[in-house]
This record gives sequence, C-alpha cells and structure tokens, in this order.
Amino acid sequence: MLNLVLFGPPGAGKGTQAIFLAETFNLVHLSTGDLLRQEIADKTELGLMAQEIMSKGELVPDSIVISMIEVKLKNPNNGFIFDGFPRTTPQAQALDSLLEKHGTKVSVMLCLEVAKEELISRLLNRGLSSGRSDDTDPATIENRINVYNEKTAPIISFYESQGKYISIHGVGTIEDIAVSLKRAIENIPI
Ligand code: ADP
Repeated sequence: MLNLVLFGPPGAGKGTQAIFLAETFNLVHLSTGDLLRQEIADKTELGLMAQEIMSKGELVPDSIVISMIEVKLKNPNNGFIFDGFPRTTPQAQALDSLLEKHGTKVSVMLCLEVAKEELISRLLNRGLSSGRSDDTDPATIENRINVYNEKTAPIISFYESQGKYISIHGVGTIEDIAVSLKRAIENIPI
C-alpha cells in the first residue's frame, strides 16, 4: 500500500495536489479540513463547535480529528493520501498506530514549501471565490500560519527521524509541482 502524508502550510496547495495524486496513484483522499467543512454544512453539533475554532484559525482538538480519520480507514484502494492531517505530533503518533492496526504504515511525508508572503496572497485570493471565512480575514490567515509554525511544522522532525520526509518546492505552475510530487513518489525505495 502507498500511504502519503501531503504536508505544508495553509495555502501551500495540498488540496489541489492531493486530488491529482489520489487519481494518479489510485488512493483514497482524506482531508480533515473537508471532513470538518462537511460537518459544518450538515449543521451537526461537531460542526458548530468546529466552525468557531476554524474561523479563528485555531486547531480542532486532536481527539476529534483522529476519530474522524479512524472511521475512514477502510476500503483503501491502493492506499490513502492524508491532506491536512496530521497537524500535531499526537496526531502523527495516532496515525502511525491506526495504520499499524491495519497492517500498514506511512510511506512518505511530502512537504510543499512556500514562503509566507506567497501563502498570504494565495489565501486572500482564494477567499475571493471560496466562500471560506478563514480565507478572507488577514488576522485569521496570519494566525493560521503562526499555528502552523508553532504546532504543525515540528512534525517534520517526527518524519525526518523515520527517514520519510521529502521537501518539495511548492512555487510554480500547478502542473510543475504535480510533476515534482509524482517523480518523488515514483522514486520511493520499496
Ligand atoms: P488549510 O490547509 O488551507 O488551512 P484545511 O482545509 O486543511 O485548510 O483546514 C482548515 C481548518 O480546519 C484549519 O485551520 C483547522 O482549524 C481545521 N483543521 C483541519 N485539519 C485539522 C487537523 N488535522 N487538526 C486540527 N484542526 C484541523
């Protein structure tokens, strides 16, 4: 099985590239952001709680996102692509143990590298059409990037210590970045 963690700051292009990689390698695409937005759209109790946290650019509690992923770990096709998860070290540890229970593991973590100024301009631009309130307010965007640097980026060393961290230059055309990701995946030693 091929299990990919697609990683990077908000606005790095994870969602766009995850859709491409899921199709290319026949993987199930699991995005915790999409799953949470579905809860909000369905007006569930969880959705109401998540909405408030997400609108401030903070992280939803680990236990919630871990449970959301846990129930989706079935019918893997050729594997899974995790987009926006894990976002904290406890989430990364939980993913390892969940996959172990299924007799599999994370193959690699692909990190899309994009500078802060570019992220801010991409997110504000996306906010014009996405209808996502967390993409329109500059203070929320700033907070999301700070939360990424403080709580999420430390996961890099978690995967680096397992020899699974691959850095990908995330600036250029969508097609160019897709090619870099595809090449990196094709070169994973089996
Ligand atoms: P982006 O990567 O552009 O910030 P996402 O759709 O991945 O967009 O996430 C949107 C928001 O959803 C995050 O800012 C956070 O509040 C919440 N969220 C998504 N995934 C997680 C996660 N794994 N852990 C905690 N919160 C999450």
